[in-house]
Amino acid sequence: MTTSGVGSSNARYAGDQSALRQRNLAALLDLLRRYGVLTRTDLAQITGLNRATITRLVRELIGSNLVCEDGVQASPTGRPAIPLRLNAQAGTIIGAEIGFPTVSAIVTDFTPTIHARFEETMLPNASQDAVLEQAMRVFSAAYDVARQQSERVFGLGLGVPGLVDTVTGTLLFAPNLGWSDVPLKQMLEARLNIPVFVDNVASVSALGESYFGAAQNHNNVLYLSTQGGLGGRIVTHGDILRGTSGFAGEVGHMTVTDTGRRCNCGRVGCWETHASQMALLQRVRERLAGGEASLLREMAHDPAQITVAMIVDAADQGDRLAQSALTEIGHWLGVGLANLINMLNPDLVVIGGVLSLGHRWLLPVIEDVVATEALRWVRKDCEITFAAHGADTCLFGSVAAVHRQVLEQPQRWM
Ligand SMILES: [Zn+2]
Repeated sequence: MTTSGVGSSNARYAGDQSALRQRNLAALLDLLRRYGVLTRTDLAQITGLNRATITRLVRELIGSNLVCEDGVQASPTGRPAIPLRLNAQAGTIIGAEIGFPTVSAIVTDFTPTIHARFEETMLPNASQDAVLEQAMRVFSAAYDVARQQSERVFGLGLGVPGLVDTVTGTLLFAPNLGWSDVPLKQMLEARLNIPVFVDNVASVSALGESYFGAAQNHNNVLYLSTQGGLGGRIVTHGDILRGTSGFAGEVGHMTVTDTGRRCNCGRVGCWETHASQMALLQRVRERLAGGEASLLREMAHDPAQITVAMIVDAADQGDRLAQSALTEIGHWLGVGLANLINMLNPDLVVIGGVLSLGHRWLLPVIEDVVATEALRWVRKDCEITFAAHGADTCLFGSVAAVHRQVLEQPQRWM
């Protein structure tokens, strides 16, 4: 019948219009994220959309509280221009991390500024069930605060140290925790009843630094996560290279030597057994056990309680053991990075995670090794830096994972 033909054509037109509106709303929100403050005239100029369309879309965004006006400024034409920005009060976001050895969460507004922080240390040799229960307790406490601050909790992002199926949000394998096949997204959504996004710690951290941190405005970025073991991610033009199965960037298990301790993956010579948080703590504990003098003996009576922050503090106070341990880790970071820089030709390497606390000690050593071992034509265009959010990189990245979903699909919240 002709009516069905007309009907399906209209439905397709309506679908096209809806998709176009969604794309335009998403584009305006992303511009406000990137630039901070823009007027309607700026938005029209950047997007090429006409003024009437911009006015209508902005009215919708303000009506749904995602965007707000920010006073009035004189424009070059003399007409008043009203700056627009993302509305901090639009809603709250929870950024979470099951790290090693801590479970932590932050609650942020929509800009994102941190309003609350939660952290618990895992008990040594705690079972998987015990750690999961601890994580649920920490994340539920964060959720309660997020809910108190806003009717609208956009979601919870979670970074975990292992391989993740990002579609189902299942942690497939976490060698350093000894976990496999944990349906984290399903468990958390059932408990909190908000959208949950689970990904590998390196993926969320890389996203966070590209989105809110040191890698903004860089197009070819290698992100290196030093939280626990070592993980890497390659970010090109804001998108993470996933590879065939979603696991591209597992650089921690790149072989850098044929000697050394056995890795948790079962092999010998993996990069993370020489250059990571775990490697630094192991080196220091072994040398203390061997009887070397160090300020760290006074800082922590039990070597198991030594942290990266203590080692950096001791190094700053002139402690030889702490200084040489950091230098050794910096050397091995440089060896692996030289290989990766040759292979990927990035314009920026961002080192994030807890080792960024030691950046003053690590960076000069890394730069020396890379200057010697990477091809100079590749090296000359590559900057090496530490993450803007330091040890909070994964938490901010988890926030970014949620924030991006809101910006890409604003109609869900309008
Ligand atoms: Zn390994």
